[in-house]
Formats: sequence, C-alpha cells, structure tokens
Amino acid sequence: MNLHEYQGKEILNSFGVEIQRGILAHTAEEAVTAAKKLTGDTGTVWHMIKAQVHAGGRGKGGGVKLAKSLEEVRDIAGQIIGMNLITPQTSAKGKKVHQVLVAEDVYYPGDSEPEEYYMSVLLNRASGRNMIMYSTEGGMDIEAVAEETPHLIFTEKIDPTVGLLPFQARRIAFNLGLSGKAFGEMVKFVIALYTAYVKSDSSLIEINPVLKTSDDRVIAVDAKVTLDDNALFRHKDYEAMRDIREENPIEVEAKAVGLNYVDLDGNVGCMVNGAGLAMATMDLIKQAGGEPANFLDVGGTADAERVEAAFNLILKDPNVKAILINIFGGIVRCDRVAQGIIDAYKNMGNINVPIIVRLQGTNADIAKDLIDNSGLDVQSAIEFQEAADKVQAVLA
Ligand code: GDP
Ligand code: MN
Repeated sequence: MNLHEYQGKEILNSFGVEIQRGILAHTAEEAVTAAKKLTGDTGTVWHMIKAQVHAGGRGKGGGVKLAKSLEEVRDIAGQIIGMNLITPQTSAKGKKVHQVLVAEDVYYPGDSEPEEYYMSVLLNRASGRNMIMYSTEGGMDIEAVAEETPHLIFTEKIDPTVGLLPFQARRIAFNLGLSGKAFGEMVKFVIALYTAYVKSDSSLIEINPVLKTSDDRVIAVDAKVTLDDNALFRHKDYEAMRDIREENPIEVEAKAVGLNYVDLDGNVGCMVNGAGLAMATMDLIKQAGGEPANFLDVGGTADAERVEAAFNLILKDPNVKAILINIFGGIVRCDRVAQGIIDAYKNMGNINVPIIVRLQGTNADIAKDLIDNSGLDVQSAIEFQEAADKVQAVLA
C-alpha cells in the first residue's frame, strides 16, 4: 500500500525521524490557516506548498512550490488544489490533486549551504537482506544518477540477526562527507529511519531529498513509504491511511469482492486459479503475440458467481480484445467451472470478445463437452499450447 508524503512523514516521525514539518490542507483558506498555525507566520516566513498525490517528481510537474507570503500561500494552494498534476511518474492523464501539504521552508540561509542527499531502505532480494541505499546526489532523479554516475550510489547491507549496527550508520554519515554536528545528526537519522522501516513493516522507504540544513540539522524533506500489505493486519492505524482515490478503480473493486487482480497494459484478459499458473499464463499470452491486460487469480472456488465477478472486472478494461481462462481442476472439478463460465456468460449477456477456455484436471473432458456444446462464442482447449494457438488466432 502506497502512502502520501504527509502520511509517510507522520509514520517516520513517530519513530524519531526528523522531518520537514507540515499541515495538510484541502482548500486555499485552510492552507493559510495551516501556515499561520505551523510557523506562527505574520507574513514574513516562507512556506512550501506540496501536492499530495501518489507519484514522485511533483516538483517537475509544478506540484511543489515556494510561497513567500501568506497571499502566495493562498494563491499557490488555490492553483495546485484541483489541478491535474502530470509528472514523470504519472500517466499522461496525470493525477487530480485533492489536498496539499503546507510545509515549513527548510532551505533557509545560514552558516553553511543546505545539502541534499538521497536515502532509501528496501529489501535486496538477491542477498535476502535489507539494505540502505544512499547517495550524495540527492534532490534529483536517482535513476539518472544510477545510470550516469553509479559510483556515487552506496549501499549498506544489514544482517538480519543483529540489525543495523552503529558503525554502519557512522559509515553512511562519513561517506556522505559529513563532520561535526551534522555527522551525529545523520547517524541518529539513519538509525531512526531503519527502525521505522522495520517496525512499520514497510517494503520501501525512499527519502529524496534528505536535507542537511544550513544549521546542520538532518531532516526528511520528502517521503515515499510503501507498506507491506501482508503485514497491514498488524497496523490498523495505518490501514486507515489508504486513499482509494489514488488507486486503480478496477483493483479497488476486485479487492472488495476478494479477487486478486492487478491491472496491466495489454489486450488479453486472463482468469486463472492460482498465482503460479496465472504467471505462467501471462508468459503464454506473450508467446502467442499478445500482452496480458491483467493478472487475475480467482482462487480455489471458481463457481459461477466468482467467474461472473471476474468477467465483470476484466471487461471494464476497454483494451481487452480476448479473454483466456486457464483453470486447473485439482480440488475444484472442471465441469463445475465450465458450467460456472457458461452460466456467467449467459447471465451477463454483453460479452463481445472471444473467450478461450483451457480446463485441465478432474473431469476436463466433460468440461470440454459442456463448453463445445454451449452454443456460445467460447473455444475450449485442453493443452497449454493449444490455448496459446487459439489466442494467437483470435488476435490475428
Ligand atoms: P518531488 O518533486 O515529488 O520529489 O517532491 P519533493 O518533496 O522532493 O520536493 C521537490 C523539491 O522541492 C525538492 O527537491 C527541493 O529542491 C524543493 N524543496 C522542498 N522543500 C523545500 C523547502 O522547504 N524550501 C525550498 N526552497 N525548496 C524546497
Ligand atoms: Mn522528492
């Protein structure tokens, strides 16, 4: 589950991570009130107005702006709220902004220049360990840094049996070129950040930029936090942070009816029982020259009701040109699934894309007879390759 910047910062701060403080606002007037409350502003303090959407690169799209007076707070918040924000990380359609974070300006002048760093905590799947990835090149596109100057990205792998050790946090502060007070602040920051990652059951925390202020404080200016859905049951308070306006509407609906659905860009809808078979089916579709429009695991009980719910979801996607149903009848009998498909098809009455059904396992032959004699625009297959060929034929 993805979070907004303001929610991510709230969680981080609860574990002692220093942040750029801010208050959420839904209207221009609320933004002014927030600014006054945040900084006690009488018109001389600067604020950042930051669009809250689930996408990075907001600054580039005009969703993060500096306001140098309360009038500017009102104007800029009014501009950003309701805008359609297009960033390098959104689709071409962009994302509607419903709310902004009114944050304190932390790039104030002082004894030294503010410095921006990059830092993230994530699981390194190759080594099976959490790692902290960091760079002196903060504030910019980290993918570009990785491409052009990979030697400026450092990693610190963490041994799960002992956790992050103090010397590792010191090594990070050292590699970032810090000394004196800022060095100590960075060590504290890294330790708190890693604690937050572990205790919140996050799968990714990315802070870009981490800022060393002109008076040597170290704070998170931005926060991208992704929580592990499988651990959400342990965090009821985080569960309430879900903002379904930011999520794919078909995926939200699938979740509500208990189907495991991931929206993809292709043209062949798939309905499969079991995640492994679903992935193999997606490979099959690619081999046949198609692109999967979705991942959909209907689970063990593929009855008419579930099949109909699944059809409904798949057909919401206008790109779908064909549907491949691939069900292995282990516990569930193929003939029951076939009957479920036929019932759902007739019941819906508005299916206008060809359907290829591959049923394998218990009573597969009876199932094939049912499908073949149904009189519907549904083709049956028993073998994997046969199904692939039929998909290829309908796409041609
Ligand atoms: P992103 O564009 O979605 O990654 O949003 P960020 O939260 O990273 O903000 C974008 C950029 O705005 C940052 O990289 C900073 O350069 C700038 N910025 C953020 N906070 C402040 C601030 O308090 N003062 C100033 N002057 N600039 C800021
Ligand atoms: Mn950022």
